[in-house]
Amino acid sequence: MTANLLDFDLDGLAAFCETLGEKRFRATQLYRWIHQRGACNFDEMSDLAKSLRAKLHAVARIEGLPVISQHESADGTIKWLFDVGQGNAVEAVFIPEDDRGTLCVSSQAGCAVGCRFCSTGHQGFARNLSTGEIVAQLWFAEHFLRRHLQTQDRVISNVVMMGMGEPLQNYAALVPALRTMLDDHGYGLSRRRVTVSTSGVVPMMDRLGLDCPVALAVSLHAPADALRDNLVPINRKYPLSELLDACNRYLEHAPRDFITFEYCMLEGVNDQPEHAALLIDLVRRHGGSGVPCKFNLIPFNPFPQSGLRRSSQAQVQAFAKLLSDAGIVTTVRKTRGDDIDAACGQLAGDVRDRTRVEVRIARQRSVVVLPASVGGAA
Ligand code: SAH
Ligand code: SF4
Repeated sequence: MTANLLDFDLDGLAAFCETLGEKRFRATQLYRWIHQRGACNFDEMSDLAKSLRAKLHAVARIEGLPVISQHESADGTIKWLFDVGQGNAVEAVFIPEDDRGTLCVSSQAGCAVGCRFCSTGHQGFARNLSTGEIVAQLWFAEHFLRRHLQTQDRVISNVVMMGMGEPLQNYAALVPALRTMLDDHGYGLSRRRVTVSTSGVVPMMDRLGLDCPVALAVSLHAPADALRDNLVPINRKYPLSELLDACNRYLEHAPRDFITFEYCMLEGVNDQPEHAALLIDLVRRHGGSGVPCKFNLIPFNPFPQSGLRRSSQAQVQAFAKLLSDAGIVTTVRKTRGDDIDAACGQLAGDVRDRTRVEVRIARQRSVVVLPASVGGAA
C-alpha cells in the first residue's frame, strides 16, 4: 500500500521524504504542489526531478475522497457529501460571505457524544477520519472553488471544525490536519481563522492549547449541569465548572482572547429569561473573574425524531438582548443553506440507506451528482 501524502503535515512529509533519501526542501516543494496548487499527479510537478517523480509513483499517492454529491443552495452555500467507505459519508459545507469564505469540515463519520439536538449524534459513531480524510475536504473544496470561480486566489479564508463529529475525540488525526491548514506552505490560514468546536472534552482542550492553539468554540447549550447532562451527555464526565476552568486555561495559549460559546436555541428547553440570567451569572462569576467569551446563538435546526422545536425568532432576539445588555457580545447565527440540509446539525451523512438519501436528494432543485472520480487519486 502506498502512502497517501494528504496524511502528512510538513514535518511528516519531510520525514517521509527522508526515507527516500530526499532533503527537506524537496518535501516543501511537494507539499506546495499538493496544497497550494491542488496537484494530484506527480507528473505535473515539473520542478521535481524525473527520478524523484518515478520514486514517488512507486511509494506514494495523493488521494482525495470520492464526491457522492454536490448541492448548491440559493444563498451560495455549497455542500459536498464525500464517501468514506463502508456505507459511510461525511459532509463539508462552504459558506461564502462578503469578507470571507468559510469551510465547515467534518472530523468523524458519526459522533459518539450523542447530543439530543444533533442529527449526527442520533446517527451514532462509525469511525474516526484520518488526517488525510480531514485535509481532503479542504484540499478538494479550495481547488474546486478556484476552478469554479476562475481565480488563482485563495477562496477559503476560514475553517471551522463544525461538521460531523467531535474533533477532540479524534485528536491524533486532527492536529496534523490543523498544522496543514496553518502552514505557510500549506493553506496559510491564521490561527484566529481556524476554529475547533468541541462539546467539552476537557483533557484534550488542554492538549490542544499546548500542541496547536487555534480559535476555540465550546458548545455550551445549557447554563446548569442538570440540563446540560441531558442535552450534551459528555457533561456527566466533564461538568460545567471543569469545562469553564479548561476554557480559562485554554485562553492562556489561544490566538484570540475569548472563547466562543455556541448555544443552540431549543423552544421551552433552554431559551427562557431565567436561563439567560443563569448563563450571565455563570460566565461572569465562574472562578471569581468569569470567562472572557462571546455567545453565538444557533436557532435549532429540526430533524425528524428529535422531539425538539426551534425557539421563535422573537425568543431568540429577546435572549440575545438579555446577554448583550449584560455586556456579553452576542450574535445570532444566520441559518444558511437550510434548503439543502447544510445547516448546523443537519449533516446526517449516513448513506447506508441509499434509497432514503436518493429520495431526499431528488427533492432538491440544485442537485449536481458528480462522478465518483472527482475526488481524484494520483
Ligand atoms: N462536535 C462539535 C462540533 C460539531 S457540531 C461540537 O459539538 O461542538 C457544531 C455545532 O452545531 C455545535 O455547536 C452543535 O451543538 C451545533 N448543532 C448540532 N446540532 C444542531 C442542530 N440540530 N441545530 C443547531 N445547531 C446544532
Ligand atoms: Fe457530536 Fe457535536 Fe453533534 Fe454533539 S453536537 S453529537 S458533539 S457532533
